[in-house]
Amino acid sequence: MNVPFIDLSKQTDALLAQYASAAKRVLGSNRFILGPENEAFEKEASGYLGTRHAIGLASGSDALLLALQAAGIGAGDEVITTPFSFFATASAIERSGAKIVFADIDPETFNLDAGDAELKMNAKTKAILPVHLYGQSADLDRLTALARSKKVIVIEDAAQSFGCRYKGRMTGTLGEAGCYSFYPTKNLGGVGDGGLLVTSNDRIAERVRSLRNHGQSKRYVHESIGMNSRLDDLQAAILRIKLKKLDGWNRARQKHAAVYDEAFSDLPVRRPVKREGCEHIYHLYTLRTPRRAALASHLERSGIGSAVHYPIPLHLQSCFSGRGWKKGDLPQAEKASDEVISLPMFPELTQVQLKAVISAVRDFFHA
Ligand SMILES: *Cc1c(COP(=O)(O)O)cnc(C)c1O
Repeated sequence: MNVPFIDLSKQTDALLAQYASAAKRVLGSNRFILGPENEAFEKEASGYLGTRHAIGLASGSDALLLALQAAGIGAGDEVITTPFSFFATASAIERSGAKIVFADIDPETFNLDAGDAELKMNAKTKAILPVHLYGQSADLDRLTALARSKKVIVIEDAAQSFGCRYKGRMTGTLGEAGCYSFYPTKNLGGVGDGGLLVTSNDRIAERVRSLRNHGQSKRYVHESIGMNSRLDDLQAAILRIKLKKLDGWNRARQKHAAVYDEAFSDLPVRRPVKREGCEHIYHLYTLRTPRRAALASHLERSGIGSAVHYPIPLHLQSCFSGRGWKKGDLPQAEKASDEVISLPMFPELTQVQLKAVISAVRDFFHA
């Protein structure tokens, strides 16, 4: 039996009638950008997350850039982040004009190591930008305490953790700003690109609302140089439907993860490590083994999808060659890049599919 790494079709098919009536409503309104659906989604998202402001944007990448810009971070500043993430985390810092400073990760959770972050900070550091990787909350108590003690801010990359809590509060809402992505494969995914920035800081919210619309304070009055980064109403209307389903979907992911955990408990492979207070909503279910390449080909031969997030740590990307980063600088991130492998994970996985994945993985380690 073949099991795809991800299958969006069941979700889309189940909601097709609701999508159609939402689309009809938007098309009937002829309000396509920053209209009533965007406004309603922003309200519903800020209510769900428990934050004062939620601002619809064109992508998660833009949310990160606008968070930095609205916080006044740019040339001459340094921002601490993880080298073990999707590229957008680091590129936002570069695009803001600030300098990327990588700190290593905790090898157990793959999230930013607060201890190493502290070592990499200096007088130029203005922010810490952790990622809740794979849908697992980073150690926010330690990171926010560190930020407070150094008088810098935390900007959370919550692109993989919409609906994930840290000690009862939503990830993305504990720092100065939180950034989410609605890329279709994310836990809350749109039917196209989209993003959201949340903050409880009124000044940052006001700046982001202006920056996403070319820095306009009012029409054709530009108080700063912003960009076009707006969420369109068709996307917002779909996201309103999906937001209502999100908790159920995230619980389904957690159930599937528990089945995987149990089935792999006797195998010589590292399963996701959960930390006290740090919820995991399994955007990805990621194993770790030095035999990664062999496992990947075994799964492929067995018809089981898998993927590697991420095969090259960000400091070793060719676009950054000449910056002085080299192999060995961030050993935990480099080792993780060589060893991680993600298994099929989406809410609609069936018991039969789970069994097929499990038996292929068990076959490999018993062979
Ligand atoms: C998806 C993702 C982003 C970027 O979001 P886009 O909406 O695709 O621009 C940023 N950071 C992380 C960790 C992501 O997974």
